[in-house]
Amino acid sequence: MSFDMISYEQIGAVARVSQNRPEKRNAQNAQLLDELDAALEQAAGDDSVRVIILGGKGPHFSAGHDVRELGDGYMTQPTEQRYAYEERRYYSYALKIWDIPKPTIAQVQGACVAGGFMVAAMCDLLVASEDAYFSDHVVPMGSVGVEVLFHPWVLGHRLAKEILYTGRRITAVEAREVGLATRVVPRDELESEALKLANDIAKSPPFALKMTKKSLNRTLDIQGFRAALDAHFDTHQLAHTSAETRARGVGAEQRLEKLKAAART
Ligand code: ZN
Repeated sequence: MSFDMISYEQIGAVARVSQNRPEKRNAQNAQLLDELDAALEQAAGDDSVRVIILGGKGPHFSAGHDVRELGDGYMTQPTEQRYAYEERRYYSYALKIWDIPKPTIAQVQGACVAGGFMVAAMCDLLVASEDAYFSDHVVPMGSVGVEVLFHPWVLGHRLAKEILYTGRRITAVEAREVGLATRVVPRDELESEALKLANDIAKSPPFALKMTKKSLNRTLDIQGFRAALDAHFDTHQLAHTSAETRARGVGAEQRLEKLKAAART
């Protein structure tokens, strides 16, 4: 299968799947997300692939969802239409990464933001370069965190609240301190370090890896991981219809006042 917005490389037992739209900071439009899903499915179904690296070509991992492609009308779209789009491309695709029955490593440099952060967080492990930063800045814009509320599970409850309430960035050093990244390396060593980790993992037998991942993920499911994510997805959709969200952007304050006034009458 050939891809326009994804690069697919196999290096021995490792498949490296990279978002490949660097001129747009790997912003995730529908085509990129569809291709990413297909590429990961290909790697997951190929017996010669033991470990999958998920990266991004260029200076940034990903700037998140391509809101430019969605256009201004996205905010006022009927709920049914937006729900269907996000349920497929944002929520289900992300959870499919979580469920891949092989170890996955996110290889992250530069911006790893919002929808980009969401996809990276779905991988089992994360290797970052020193210039990497992570943020989910959508609460200050009127939303309630991206579609998959991975934050408390990978950052801890307190830090999740701080970064969501403020929209601030997590640096690579902080990411390692809190366990979001297990390794942080200079930018020019990022690919080799991720590949080294992947090859070390690939030495373990695949069925043992598959079952270990299943047990670890099931541990989180028993703690309520999936039920909490399901619930948040619907809450996220509710936020898409709030006056605060619909008014955002240039002139937001004035539009918000108008919407509030209209709601009162
Ligand atoms: Zn959304």
